[in-house]
Amino acid sequence: MANVLVLASNNAGKLREFDQLLRPLGFELHPQGEFGVSEAEEPHCTFLENALAKARHASAATGLPALADDSGVCANALGGAPGVLSARYAGEPKSDARNNRKLVDDLLPHADKSAYYYCVLVMVRHAGDPQPIIAEGRWDGEIVATPRGNGGFGYDPHFLLPALGRTAAELDAAQKNQLSHRGQALRMLVEKLR
Ligand code: IMP
Repeated sequence: MANVLVLASNNAGKLREFDQLLRPLGFELHPQGEFGVSEAEEPHCTFLENALAKARHASAATGLPALADDSGVCANALGGAPGVLSARYAGEPKSDARNNRKLVDDLLPHADKSAYYYCVLVMVRHAGDPQPIIAEGRWDGEIVATPRGNGGFGYDPHFLLPALGRTAAELDAAQKNQLSHRGQALRMLVEKLR
């Protein structure tokens, strides 16, 4: 019998990606919206604390094991910003175009344009689980002023992979999954679950 797992997100893309890797391990993933669970607050200054808060919230509301992720882009010259604020770096309402413009502008005075995407995944077996399963991934690149490519989302058109000479938005979905912070974290999670 499948182990039902709540995904602490309603993002259809994430659900598909996670489902593909977790279904073969006997997990049946359901978005928290199916159970009427509201979005959790993300008040913390680390990805890990925010992911843990989201997983606990979903598990407490449903009584089921839960999986949550948190991710963002971190520029080295900016001390890791946008970091946990990536989705709303340029304020409300959320806008990829304004976030990208702000990141490029903030880096203008800095010669170091290096940045990395980071993703952490947290799985709890119950809301008070003292030993959550934690997996992470990091993808290094640099921020370029001129956007390139139509794939991906968010900061991808400005995230250059120097070794490939392409931005993340110029990769197809399979290539991005192979390399990305989220793909790495998912594969680490699968290894730990095995
Ligand atoms: P969340 O973890 O889905 O809340 O993502 C946080 C934010 O980080 C997103 O809204 C994007 O701005 C950024 N981000 C995370 N992963 C990626 C990615 O793979 N490509 C581009 N932007 C990303």
